[in-house]
Formats: sequence, structure tokens, C-alpha cells
Amino acid sequence: MNKPEINNEQSIYRQSNNIVNVHGCMRYKCFHCGKSFSVFLEIGVEDDGRNGRPRQPCPMFIACECGEMMQDISGYLPLPSIREVLPNMKYFAYDNSKKEYACGIISIYKKG
Ligand SMILES: [Zn+2]
Repeated sequence: MNKPEINNEQSIYRQSNNIVNVHGCMRYKCFHCGKSFSVFLEIGVEDDGRNGRPRQPCPMFIACECGEMMQDISGYLPLPSIREVLPNMKYFAYDNSKKEYACGIISIYKKG
């Protein structure tokens, strides 16, 4: 029998219906189950403030659906131009809470 999944999409990613603009991405990989994917970066996250918002970092590790952790394996990868997120894309949302140590929030874009 397979190990039950501790986490699922709903518990890991904040579900968002808001279209946001992204400027780059980072690749994450889980060395436990082998899963990997790109997580896009909303304006202000990991962009050194060049797009007009104070810069926020994003986490080096995120939870994997298998219950282990995924880690950044690419560092920052710029997109050729700023674009909108597409449905089911994962991205780090800019944290508008104004907290002192705000950092990108792992999110997934669900249309409408
Ligand atoms: Zn995994």
C-alpha cells in the first residue's frame, strides 16, 4: 500500500483567483519523491525592487505533496518579459500584510 499523502494541494498552496503579473521563476525539486516544477514570482518577489515594490524574498524550501520538502534547485530565472499567471500555475504571491519579515506566499492560480 502506498504511504498516504500527508499534504494535498489545498493545504500547501493558497488558492487565488487574482490574476497577477510575474517576472521570473524558480525551479523546486523534492529529492524524496523526485517531483519538480517551476514556481513563478509575482512583481516584488525576488526582483530587487526594480519593478516598483519593495523587494521580498521567497522561501528556499516548500512543502511537497508527498510530505517531504522541496528545495530551490535553480535560483532566479528571469522570464523574457513580464506576463500574467495562467490557471494552475504556482507562484509566490507578494505579501501585502506590511509585516517586517514578509516573504512570498506559495499560491496557485485558479481561474474564477
Ligand atoms: Zn515529494
